[in-house]
Amino acid sequence: MAYQGIIETYRPLLNIPEGMRAISMLEGNTPLIPVPKIADRLGGGFDLRVKFEGLNPTGSFKDRGMTVAVSEAAHRGAKTVICASTGNTAASAAAYAARAGMRAIVIIPAGKVAAGKLAGAIAYGAQVIQIDGSFDDALSLVVAISNKHPIALVNSLNPFRLEGQKSAAFELCETLGSAPDWLALPVGNAGNITAYWMGFKQYHEKKKTVLPQILGVQAAGAAPLVLGHPVEHPETIATAIRIGKPARGEEAVTAASESHGRIIAASDEEILAAQKLLASSGIWVEPASAAGLSGLIKEVDSGSLNLSGKKVVIVCTGHGLKDPDIITAQFTKPQVVKSELAELEKVILHD
Ligand SMILES: *Cc1c(COP(=O)(O)O)cnc(C)c1O
Repeated sequence: MAYQGIIETYRPLLNIPEGMRAISMLEGNTPLIPVPKIADRLGGGFDLRVKFEGLNPTGSFKDRGMTVAVSEAAHRGAKTVICASTGNTAASAAAYAARAGMRAIVIIPAGKVAAGKLAGAIAYGAQVIQIDGSFDDALSLVVAISNKHPIALVNSLNPFRLEGQKSAAFELCETLGSAPDWLALPVGNAGNITAYWMGFKQYHEKKKTVLPQILGVQAAGAAPLVLGHPVEHPETIATAIRIGKPARGEEAVTAASESHGRIIAASDEEILAAQKLLASSGIWVEPASAAGLSGLIKEVDSGSLNLSGKKVVIVCTGHGLKDPDIITAQFTKPQVVKSELAELEKVILHD
């Protein structure tokens, strides 16, 4: 049967209301792409693949959680959803709310949201409100609003978001025949690492497959879970993980330790280098999405991780198209040449 999206595919494994109608855009079922060149860069001798979540309908993994959160809100009769967002949650909430015929309100930190995300939220018809504060401020505000008014909160504090996001772990187990040995992913508000661990544990109980070790990676300027305390003014080029007080921080730390993994920090330079490396294998992701690989490189290069013979998966959470400005700012600029054959030959045959 044709693929039907994550709610219909995994309904028996999801803790959702009986009879809940699926608001879906056939999210999930994303490719697991082998990246042998990157494995070689890391010493070779192991199986390395990218779970490319940027290929979800709105360009990030957020759609997995949003299909469930918005379906559940609609099931309860909610007419409006609200979220705080560094960008991708906003675009996803806006799209699914539009599909459900609901109103979406998104609160974002002014000037800190990548162009493709902001454009998406507007295109899908959300009411976009910028505040002169951080993501963490925005989250406190939307929690207060949803407690006071009949407006459904669709941040990953909403447990239905995690129910949907577990599906990525199920897909990995099914594609690989078991969980990978290591899973590396970025950590921001920490809903995703929490959901993966829930999903792997659930699959493990059901099918007795192995459990992976999880490497969570924060940006060095926004690394509360590495430092062990909140960060008042988080700063990083990886705007999707520019979060100083992760809502699911405790669960994330538990996921890392229960899995015999860890949460580490990578610098913006290391994250950008990983973004380039992925692009050199044909996979263009936004900076935050490259954090998992940057952490893996760091651990292997420092000798703290031996991947020989292992199955390793890097979760690339969002598409590069979301954040085009970072490329024009950080990468080589296009050459400008006169429209003349000889001039073109000069630059093309240059070396
Ligand atoms: C939301 C997001 C993250 C962080 O996920 P959390 O669940 O908040 O930890 C990472 N990368 C991208 C592209 C995101 O949109």
